[in-house]
Amino acid sequence: MNSLKAISINISIPLFISLLFSLMLFYDEKIPKFIFSLVPYLFYAISTLILWVSWHFNRNRFIFIILPLIFMHIGFEYLSAPKATSLFLYSSLLYPLHLIIFLLLKERGLFSIWGILKIVFFISEMSVVLYLVYFPSEIINSYLNIKMFAFNFYPLKDMALAVGVFVLFVLSSLVLFNRYLIYNSTFLVITLVFYTGLYFIKLPHVNELSLLTIGVIVFALLIRESYRLAFYDELTSLPGRRALVEDMAKLGMKYCLVMVDIDFFKKFNDTYGHDTGDEVLKMVAGKLAQVSGGGKAYRYGGEEFVLLFPSKIIDDAYQHTDILRDTIAKTPFSVRNKKSQKNIYINISAGVVQNTSKDKDPFAVMKRADNALYKAKEAGRNKVIKG
Ligand code: GH3
Ligand code: MG
Ligand code: MG
Repeated sequence: MNSLKAISINISIPLFISLLFSLMLFYDEKIPKFIFSLVPYLFYAISTLILWVSWHFNRNRFIFIILPLIFMHIGFEYLSAPKATSLFLYSSLLYPLHLIIFLLLKERGLFSIWGILKIVFFISEMSVVLYLVYFPSEIINSYLNIKMFAFNFYPLKDMALAVGVFVLFVLSSLVLFNRYLIYNSTFLVITLVFYTGLYFIKLPHVNELSLLTIGVIVFALLIRESYRLAFYDELTSLPGRRALVEDMAKLGMKYCLVMVDIDFFKKFNDTYGHDTGDEVLKMVAGKLAQVSGGGKAYRYGGEEFVLLFPSKIIDDAYQHTDILRDTIAKTPFSVRNKKSQKNIYINISAGVVQNTSKDKDPFAVMKRADNALYKAKEAGRNKVIKG
């Protein structure tokens, strides 16, 4: 289960954006009229930007999320009232389901076989909606208009509400239990904004503003995703070497640095296979991420990690590192093969140093930590040595 802290951090960004836009509606009397007249243009501008960036960075999911919103925007603006009402009904039913589908489908190249299947699915979806908007079917509409609840949520149909409850339930579960928090929390907020926009659609500016809000939320997600790609390691989810170099440039006068290396990892890979080796890396990274004493863990590369302790003296850093070494040494790791399952134990060695006035730069400190690590290996491994 994801920690409450991580969930709050991830959900607060899209929520904050939504809040800003709802404030605009609340104080619409005080806001100059021309600002509201800009909203549709802003929506098209940010949508174009999202399409361009997603295409460029191979984040195709966002293309499929934004295109239906553009069609809705155009439809609500230019269709006759009865056709717009039909579009409203189908969008309220389909878009939230569409969001889940494209959230859960893996990111693939647009022109791979999976990418082409996605495109075909998307075009069929849009064609069905377009057909039904122009040639309404009595039978389908009578099904979609079935009364399910005692309350009335006009203009939303009961069926749309049922779909909404289902989608929000799935997304909330993903937020709680799935590791892609940044996506799941954003999609949860997008769904909420989408339904709120539809529910209050009769009020002035609500529809355009809700679509713009979703656009801005998606754009913020794209930026955060690019940051994560650049600074975080994919396998272990720890910050990587680039983040380490940035953080080292910001260090104060006094700090400690620890070089950590898994013992006999090559042998482990040779015995149990590279995939099991990856699982061990994730386990060790998970433990290192919980470092106490204000430390922060990074994946330096391969099976090597770095711990940074800003404003700590070497004895403190040693203590916090040794707790981690001990925890990892005592944590059983279960390996399964065709016949049996057994528990094995992994050890780490570490070299701890504190910076001195003689160190020219943080990399000199790193070099000394590496030497201390080498001594820990020589001393028999599963040890922390002060340099
Ligand atoms: P020592 O106790 O001296 O550190 O021995 P070692 O075998 O751990 O040291 P060595 O540096 O020779 O081996 C590191 C191994 O880590 C080699 C490589 O197969 C493995 N490795 C590096 N990156 C990864 C990875 O991302 N996944 C997996 N599964 N293995 C990796
Ligand atoms: Mg190594
Ligand atoms: Mg090693």
